[in-house]
Amino acid sequence: MSRYTGPVCKLCRREGEKLFLKGARCFSPKCAIERRSYPPGEHGRESQFRRRRVSDYSRQLREKQKTRRIYGMKERQFRRFYSNALQRRGMTGENLLTMLERRLDNVVYRLGFADSRAQARMLVTHGHFNVNGRRTDVPSMLMQKDDEIEVREGSRKRTFFKDLPAVAETKTVPDWLERDVNKLAGRIAKMPERSDVDANLNEQLIVEYYSR
Ligand code: SF4
Repeated sequence: MSRYTGPVCKLCRREGEKLFLKGARCFSPKCAIERRSYPPGEHGRESQFRRRRVSDYSRQLREKQKTRRIYGMKERQFRRFYSNALQRRGMTGENLLTMLERRLDNVVYRLGFADSRAQARMLVTHGHFNVNGRRTDVPSMLMQKDDEIEVREGSRKRTFFKDLPAVAETKTVPDWLERDVNKLAGRIAKMPERSDVDANLNEQLIVEYYSR
């Protein structure tokens, strides 16, 4: 299945909540959820007035889709993450969410070096970052404790990165990350825990979805 390239605000409207996929726009009155908070499609507007019994399966599916969309992943890749989480010790749902947080594109986003996860992913695939001193262009790479991420020397001359310290300064960094905005660098201070996931997610429903 290929990556979704359609209008991303539709995804939020489908899930009925903000997924914060578009950076600054998500915090402005232009946000589609603020203006049209009903599902997309021909019958979207009327469906909000219909009383419909929501099945367990539907709730599980929606939670899985929501999580996958927040982290910008394809179904096959998301399922692979789930299988990996299942094999690890501890709670599968928590393992899954903390693994998603440790993805390189998410770390770049959480360090405040990108406006959205989609932008972070693009910056990583274009090879603008070093991980532990080595150029890395794999957004799904899982970060480990003490891993160091920095913008590459050659990329710093670009306007985007020249302006970045001032922009990043305004963004808060979670406890599990350390950041040096002037050096455009960051470090994984500790492994993220469930409480470090800032999105409103119910991992139990995802586990139930894949355990059917
Ligand atoms: Fe979702 Fe952001 Fe679009 Fe609002 S602006 S609908 S939060 S992607």
